[in-house]
Amino acid sequence: MTTATEVSVRARIADEIRRRQRFVLSSHVRPDGDAIGSQLAMAFALWQLGKEVRLVNHDAPPTPMMVFPGVPKIEVSSHVEDPGDAVIVMECGELSRTGVEGFERGFVINIDHHLGNTGYGTLNWFDTSAAACGEMVFDLVRELGVQLTPEIATHVYIAILTDTGSFHYSNISPQTFDICRQCVEAGIDPPAIAGAIYDSNSLGRLKLFGAVLSKMELDASGHVATVYVDQKLATECGGTYEDTEGIVNLPLTVKEIEAVAFFKEAGPDDWRVSMRSKGEVDVNAIAKQFGGGGHKNASGCNARGTFEDLKLLFQRLLLEQIEAARARPT
Ligand code: 5GP
Ligand code: MN
Repeated sequence: MTTATEVSVRARIADEIRRRQRFVLSSHVRPDGDAIGSQLAMAFALWQLGKEVRLVNHDAPPTPMMVFPGVPKIEVSSHVEDPGDAVIVMECGELSRTGVEGFERGFVINIDHHLGNTGYGTLNWFDTSAAACGEMVFDLVRELGVQLTPEIATHVYIAILTDTGSFHYSNISPQTFDICRQCVEAGIDPPAIAGAIYDSNSLGRLKLFGAVLSKMELDASGHVATVYVDQKLATECGGTYEDTEGIVNLPLTVKEIEAVAFFKEAGPDDWRVSMRSKGEVDVNAIAKQFGGGGHKNASGCNARGTFEDLKLLFQRLLLEQIEAARARPT
């Protein structure tokens, strides 16, 4: 539900955008589809208004995204000298999630749908009910009165398609489908978009999926799955870490599995942990304990220790969340 306060914040953001000329747009480290889609939808809207736009991210876009309009324009950098007339940061609960220094000196517009956003901007608009940050960007684009071009619509759709786990997650609303309907009417090609994102893998990626899944373990309850990848496994399969994107969602296709943790080796005893869950099982509560964040059904954090220790720890924490979700009145 969009509240009256949110509407007035959005109107204020639109006013500030109209008054300004030079923009820097950014999103989070290791950008996903919502990060890229939100950024590019915003960029095409600003270009339509005759504004100057730079797109600056700490990491390169995922390779499959490079075929979409404007994505190759993204500059990869960890600092900006000139934050322009305004910096629009999308999809980031904290400013540090951009991984880019220099934004703190600018006029920062913070647009986000993560739980626990710290309100780091000069203007802050967050709506945790949005299924994707791209939904919020869509509303802002409408507020700005720009035409919904196929480019803008494509990027909004990419944001929604990827951030809902292909329309799986619980924060999907009638609004989600209404926005998608308008995107289709604007001329996007949903099967072509889905094909470019999901059916353009390398063979190495498929082999890596096989290797990672063959090592999947279940806890004693049978409801918690853990998977991992280290450098050795990736190299053996001819895949890269980037190729592991999406693996974390697969264990949940098993009926009994309600939560999953995927461990990616970042360094000695240093792991990046991605978690996913079904329904009311809250993985964000666990990510927060480790300084990470995200959403109820999809969160991430870093953790230190041996894989065996972390596996047992996360199995226990996830099972606790499953039990807590069962105990909660619905
Ligand atoms: P993923 O598991 O795909 O990396 O991330 C799932 C969700 O959690 C995304 O919404 C992502 O932005 C968020 N997330 C992942 N890692 C972190 C982290 O270290 N800190 C915060 N605040 N959010 C994270
Ligand atoms: Mn998102």
